[in-house]
Amino acid sequence: MLDIQKIRADFPILSREVNGQPLIYFDNAATSQKPQQVIDAITEYYTRYNANIHRGVHALSQEATDLFEAAREKARVFFNIPKAKQVIFTSGNTHSINAVAHGAHVFVNKGDELIVSSVEHHSNIVPWQMLCERVGAHLKVIPVLENGTLDMDAYKKILNDKTAFVVVNHISNALGVTNPVKDIIKEAKKYGAMTLIDGAQSCGHMKLDMQELDADFYTMAGHKMCGPTGIGILYGKEDALNQLPPYQGGGEMIDQVTFEKTTYAGLPHKFEAGTPNIAGGIALGAAIDYLNELGMDNIAAYEHELLEYGTEAIKKIPGAKIYGEVTDKAAVISFNVSSLHPYDIGTIVDKLGVAVRTGHHCAQPVMDRFGIPGTIRASFAFYNTKDEIDVMVQALHRAVNMLS
Ligand SMILES: *Cc1c(COP(=O)(O)O)cnc(C)c1O
Repeated sequence: MLDIQKIRADFPILSREVNGQPLIYFDNAATSQKPQQVIDAITEYYTRYNANIHRGVHALSQEATDLFEAAREKARVFFNIPKAKQVIFTSGNTHSINAVAHGAHVFVNKGDELIVSSVEHHSNIVPWQMLCERVGAHLKVIPVLENGTLDMDAYKKILNDKTAFVVVNHISNALGVTNPVKDIIKEAKKYGAMTLIDGAQSCGHMKLDMQELDADFYTMAGHKMCGPTGIGILYGKEDALNQLPPYQGGGEMIDQVTFEKTTYAGLPHKFEAGTPNIAGGIALGAAIDYLNELGMDNIAAYEHELLEYGTEAIKKIPGAKIYGEVTDKAAVISFNVSSLHPYDIGTIVDKLGVAVRTGHHCAQPVMDRFGIPGTIRASFAFYNTKDEIDVMVQALHRAVNMLS
């Protein structure tokens, strides 16, 4: 099992104070904190072997290239991806989605339909709306049921021969609910539709197996899995990535350039125009090492314990209502207390050192579905403790007393 106090010592930020109180960081769904090992990887790159990659014959460039490519290989193994060239480094989850949506006119024709779910993050809605506008396709939406799960019967009814693409998140950042992505993909395949799964909330919290899942594309955010900001991953099936046109043109992504015609490089370079986030890629490799050492199954089991503990405690607050209360969910609790404004509660608990998120969580459609402007969202990571949850719940009680 995990030694939480030992783990906490790896995260320097967890020992700081906020407003004179020990920091309690429950905004992990927005971004995770970083262990010293990841911070060191960034410092070491700039201190010892900063050089551009894939270009120089000199020693520093070779070293940097080897470490960057070693990180790609770590990601390949971590997500059980067949080949390293199917691991595309991007600047983040949003970039990964846009890289696919931008070129997805090769999969989506005029008059076709594209399915999204109603629990998507804006970054998995807007790029697809832009695609639909460009090609003249229609957006269809899978409704969400009262308990926060997707209406699978409705999904099966929306699917038809015109469905060209289905995009859904693996875990909703607004509700924490895990979506039945395997079934969603299987149903989409019956109609020959392409699939993209937004894995921003799953990549750092559960074991993922790209070959078992069988999506055409899957996107990940480095900064939500203990890596730095500015680095993400796009996974794709080899065929799908080969068919998808490049997102950006520039250096590194070409084979031959003349003014008459340019030919593109093969995977993964076709999608990695320009100098990448070299330090970020290497540091993401360090984050993967760190998560591997703890074990994703251990992380998931411990975070689930925190979820159950936190859910019980929050339910005891008079007037509390949790959105998305099902067993199959990540350690994210989205809730409101009576008709109190989430922002007011968030501000008071921050004064007491507790960082929670308030607002629509970049998912306005799902807030509209529940008829609320937003929620308070407490999201846990493996370095959080039940003691911290107790402090949050006390702070919530205080905030509710002050406001009602
Ligand atoms: C965080 C998040 C995104 C956006 O990722 P960025 O890191 O902001 O690019 C998209 N979808 C979900 C489900 C998220 O949680």
